[in-house]
Amino acid sequence: MQGLMMDYSLTIEKILFRARDNFPYQEIISRMADESIHRYKFINFYERTVKLMNVLRTLGVKKNERVGTFAWNSYRHLELYFAIPCIGSVLHTLNIRLFPEQLKFIVNHAEDQFIFVDASLTKLLTPLQDEFKTVKKFIVMEDGAPVDPGLKNTVMYEELLSKAEFKEDFPLLDENQAAALCYTSGTTGDPKGALYSHRSTYLHSLGICLADTLALSVNDIILPVVPMFHVNCWGIPYACCLTGSKPVFPGAHLIGKPLAELIQNEKVTLAAGVPSIWNPLYQFLKKNHYDVSSLRGLVVGGSAAPRAMIENFDKDFGVKIIHAWGMTEMSPLGTVCNLIPEIKSQDNSVKYKYMAKQGLGVPMVEMKIVDDEGKTLPKDGVSNGELLVRGPWIIKEYYKTDSEDAKSAFTLDGWFKTGDIASIDKMGYLEITDRKKDLIKTRGEWLSSVEMENFLMSHESIMEATVVGRQDDVRGEAVVVFLVPKEGHTENFNKHTLIHFLSEKFVKWQIPKESDIHVVTAIPKTSVGKFDKKVLRAQLKGDS
Ligand code: AMP
Repeated sequence: MQGLMMDYSLTIEKILFRARDNFPYQEIISRMADESIHRYKFINFYERTVKLMNVLRTLGVKKNERVGTFAWNSYRHLELYFAIPCIGSVLHTLNIRLFPEQLKFIVNHAEDQFIFVDASLTKLLTPLQDEFKTVKKFIVMEDGAPVDPGLKNTVMYEELLSKAEFKEDFPLLDENQAAALCYTSGTTGDPKGALYSHRSTYLHSLGICLADTLALSVNDIILPVVPMFHVNCWGIPYACCLTGSKPVFPGAHLIGKPLAELIQNEKVTLAAGVPSIWNPLYQFLKKNHYDVSSLRGLVVGGSAAPRAMIENFDKDFGVKIIHAWGMTEMSPLGTVCNLIPEIKSQDNSVKYKYMAKQGLGVPMVEMKIVDDEGKTLPKDGVSNGELLVRGPWIIKEYYKTDSEDAKSAFTLDGWFKTGDIASIDKMGYLEITDRKKDLIKTRGEWLSSVEMENFLMSHESIMEATVVGRQDDVRGEAVVVFLVPKEGHTENFNKHTLIHFLSEKFVKWQIPKESDIHVVTAIPKTSVGKFDKKVLRAQLKGDS
């Protein structure tokens, strides 16, 4: 017998209607390229989005066609997040920090028909425009910066919008219709596309709002520092419209002062970004007085949140770090670390230890860990294996590729292999040990690079640290450390004392030789702000 419930498709225009009907006077705030602050309300956003849908139609965008965006976080980007999928086309957010070769690959692979670009970013597209095979026009969004005169075939966003009709024409869409396309950051091989559907986007939006995940509500003022070109800004733009949370888009200004100003002036309650954003903010707040007491949390994901960062923010500013884990292939949210009552009631050292774990699976995301033969391992907090996941917002295949690499990411019985090595404890808390390919095998034993990085970053003089393996005839792989001292700490830094420090936690064979400790002024980062271990390994091999 079948249930007798309505067949109600979960499509993105319904999220938009919620914003229009329930929160018309909630504000949307954006900092523009010229640092001015733009404010308007959800109702203005709705009207402009409807007009933008008609602009897209007039441009000739058809159902299923991919439309690229090349832009910072701002209200116009939010309009595109809705208008493109609401006419049945596919929003393709392009990462503005990609190398030209990768950008070309992605635009051509996705066959983008149009690209919406911030005026301040036009100069990055000019040298590539002739190599984009399918792009018909660039629509320039006026963010206060000049447009690069070399970019051909341009038309201005506001000009198109000013001529567009306000006619609410929402096509009936299947909930499994494609809505958005994001490519992985491609640390190995070509980037691969994750093609989200309306349904997966809707369910993911609900998933990230739950009380025991990020608990987004109409009372929140949320600062998504995570770019709108990184996994759809972790789903925050859609979740804001669903819940009426007030978004504060930071534009291009992602360093200490402008972020601290936005938090203080707009009374931000929740901010989200990668650790490499929060570390400099912490250093800035230590030296400059800003009121960040409105914050109920900083969501940290994309890389492991070091325990030292969790403790420092809590002790110095009373700010709670909410550790989350996810992947492009998972829309992205997989786990969030909130403490259950049994842990909350314990002392700080137990609490911090747990807060440094990646947390509990979000409802609808199933997880298990397996050994090399695919056998499920116990959830005992000790066994480590590859993390497998399944759920309604996880890809079942990559977009338009049948490479062996892409196919081998799935098990025959429908799980996605994350490539992360992890343990899960008996209460369900996930702890990522490392990326499979970043584990270091030294003298036949595995070392978690993440564990050593976190320990190094708890040192009072270290701002950032990363650890990679280097081929070594005797040890198989030797441990190599790259670190950036905190400002003013370079002088009192010495490799000998660092080795002594490491010996508090690591055994002799895991500790790097002095010649394998590199004190540097900056660690290379990927386009989404993670330590770029590929570049470091190449440097060690002498490839670059
Ligand atoms: P991306 O698809 O670029 O978002 O990268 C996903 C990968 O980032 C995951 O498979 C993890 O290896 C890593 N990652 C994301 N969040 C975390 C976290 N909280 N802790 C450790 N690693 C993380």
